[in-house]
Amino acid sequence: MPWTSSVVIVALAALLGSGPAAAQPNPKAAWEALDAGRLQDAADRFDDLVYRMPRDPMTHLGAGIAAHRLGRVPKARAALEEALRLAPDLTPAMVLLGDILAREGDLLGAIAHYERLLALEPDDAVAVERLDRWRTEQALHEQFRQSASPNFTVLFEGPAEEALAQRALELLETAFWRIGGALGVYPAGAITLVLYTGQQFQDVTRSPAWAAGLFDGRIRIPVRGALENEEEFARVLAHEFTHALVYSIAPRRVPHWLHEGLATVFERDDMTWSRTQVQETGRILPLGALEGSFRGLSADDLKLGYAVSGLATEALLAQAGAPSVVALLQDLANGEDFRAAFAHRILIPFDEFAATWWR
Ligand SMILES: [Zn+2]
Repeated sequence: MPWTSSVVIVALAALLGSGPAAAQPNPKAAWEALDAGRLQDAADRFDDLVYRMPRDPMTHLGAGIAAHRLGRVPKARAALEEALRLAPDLTPAMVLLGDILAREGDLLGAIAHYERLLALEPDDAVAVERLDRWRTEQALHEQFRQSASPNFTVLFEGPAEEALAQRALELLETAFWRIGGALGVYPAGAITLVLYTGQQFQDVTRSPAWAAGLFDGRIRIPVRGALENEEEFARVLAHEFTHALVYSIAPRRVPHWLHEGLATVFERDDMTWSRTQVQETGRILPLGALEGSFRGLSADDLKLGYAVSGLATEALLAQAGAPSVVALLQDLANGEDFRAAFAHRILIPFDEFAATWWR
């Protein structure tokens, strides 16, 4: 039988060191793939290296970084833990693992890694600031109460916020089914909401005063008399839940206009607010200027930034359909280039969409 002989040849070639399976481990190529943003290629190469050199901490570090950038959080965590088991002083693994744990809500774990990091590198100002922020948050949350619904957990300060916390859970469950249903995808695992007084919110998030809420792995909302304006409270919760949902599909690499655009589309039942903003200012901002954070925008452009993002995303959903937009997010999560993924899923080049969507 011919196939048996070819199997034997491949096995022999591997034994003799001349077959493809016997190629020398090549860490340099794996790191280069990572630097160049070829994430899936890098992940495959590091997986192979880990198989061949299981006791080399750097290959586990590389595998952890690649998995993290691809949004494969459990795999990234396991790889970084292994890197630190093999090399307890490997500071880049401590930084990334600490950040991942904080994002997952394991503040005590994150604090432990950063304390060890700062024992080795006491002058790391970014790490000092981050550790300080986590300790503040941990101390605050230790006094908080907790309540839960099927898909959400809420943390809040005391009995005075009990009714608000229950209402927040109801509003979030409504948003979960409405927005998940519209996009045909639901987040896996419970999402945590933290309700703060205004000052606590600024202390923990270091967010600008205008922020009505934030999602950074948890939904964080300053209460500020929320029940007096329930419509606004529901809007902020739906907005931040949409960010949580997008994050669960694509933890990284989503352009800001699309993240904020989806949150703006789903925060209300209609787009009147966005249309009014554009009509009143009489101009739109190019999507290219809205790819990164909105923090650099002027106060006037900030509202317009949300409105334009919302209207462009509404046009995108109408033109391509929700499943294609979700597929685009999944492509980004898998490390694909944005423009290539956009052309593939939306069926027109991004530059053409950006130049024509508002017509
Ligand atoms: Zn937002």
